[in-house]
Amino acid sequence: MPVFDVQQFRQQFAFFQHNPNWVYLDNAATMHKPNAVVQAIIEFYQQHNSNVHRGAHQLSQQATLLFEQARGTVGNYINAEFNHEIIFTSGATAALNQIAFGLMHSLLKAGDRILLTQLEHHANIVPWQLHCQRFGVIIDVVPLTAEHQLDLVAYQQLLALKPKVVSFSHISNVLGHIQPVAQMVALAKDAGAVTVIDGAQGIVYEQPDMQQLNCDFYVFSGHKVYGPTGIGVLYGKTQWLERLTPVFGGGEMIDEVSFAKTSFNQLPFRLEAGTPNIVGAIGLMAALSWLQHYNVADIKAHKSLLLKAFYQGLATINAIDILSQPAHNAGIVALNVNNEHHSDVAELLNQQHVAVRSGQHCAMPLFSYLAQPGAVRFSFAAYNTLDDVNRCLLALEQSVEILTK
Ligand code: PMP
Repeated sequence: MPVFDVQQFRQQFAFFQHNPNWVYLDNAATMHKPNAVVQAIIEFYQQHNSNVHRGAHQLSQQATLLFEQARGTVGNYINAEFNHEIIFTSGATAALNQIAFGLMHSLLKAGDRILLTQLEHHANIVPWQLHCQRFGVIIDVVPLTAEHQLDLVAYQQLLALKPKVVSFSHISNVLGHIQPVAQMVALAKDAGAVTVIDGAQGIVYEQPDMQQLNCDFYVFSGHKVYGPTGIGVLYGKTQWLERLTPVFGGGEMIDEVSFAKTSFNQLPFRLEAGTPNIVGAIGLMAALSWLQHYNVADIKAHKSLLLKAFYQGLATINAIDILSQPAHNAGIVALNVNNEHHSDVAELLNQQHVAVRSGQHCAMPLFSYLAQPGAVRFSFAAYNTLDDVNRCLLALEQSVEILTK
């Protein structure tokens, strides 16, 4: 009897009842929402809807209470020291843009270096680049080993150049490889750098502990951890959040405004201009509260089983070039069928009701490095079953047969 009851878990997603014919393996793009999240969203709009932090009336106070409760739930989930260290954003992208903008304006100056890695998502490259030229900041990049893992020797050599900021993903959204984030943070700290982790894929793989990890920033999107789209989290240590120049100005984030000057509100409000995504935060609270009914280790074990079965099946299909390693893999596999275009493979899978993503997955520098035009990506979630794996393998085998005959 498996510890993790996948059928019980899966039954809580109405999506699968509405789409019984589909094998959904595009979880790294976005995940489905359990009924608890959908219900929380409906309930908020039907029973509590009001703006937060500003109304004199009781309804607004209730909405504010729920919104701040959501902040507390996120704070507890990732073990932040203070709730004001949780800033709600529209997603990981917005959070990384806020950090890049904020640090460029308040910390970095001409000639300073920042360190990124070869496997970053565009969301952890472009926001830095937008400012680098203007501020004269230099970007260094950690290369990969032959196994497509981060080269930690090169990482340490690049840290010797004393970058002011080191920013890297917890888990690669293309390869699925899990980075040794604790070790990387410790080494970066020793080198005196501010540490930023892109946890867009990490947040659903494990429950990261901010105080233990000791990074300065960690960001993620709600929709990749069973929550709604349009809500994300920028976690930062108080001292660093206080140093971030706000990217957005407007209501909520101010203390006093005159045409001569503006003084800012305290954290977290200083970095949350305008009406926030209230229902998004409440949906995210519902997602994280619901997820806490399950054991992270049991879910990890279930996903390992799926991954093992997938790799075993792949080994029996000819003409497949797998880019991801099975070791230290969070459940994402990128591959190509020899000489065939990735989008043709994905389309044939689509015709057989297997949902995957193909292309460069917002990681063009990684694909240039791998000298591949793109890849088909299969990403597994806790609600996927061994039956999904088998159906996908069968569909892939048939696709390969069609393409290579
Ligand atoms: N970083 C990584 C590693 C991701 O996988 C993604 C989403 N694909 C992002 C950042 C950006 O997330 P979002 O589009 O939700 O802002």
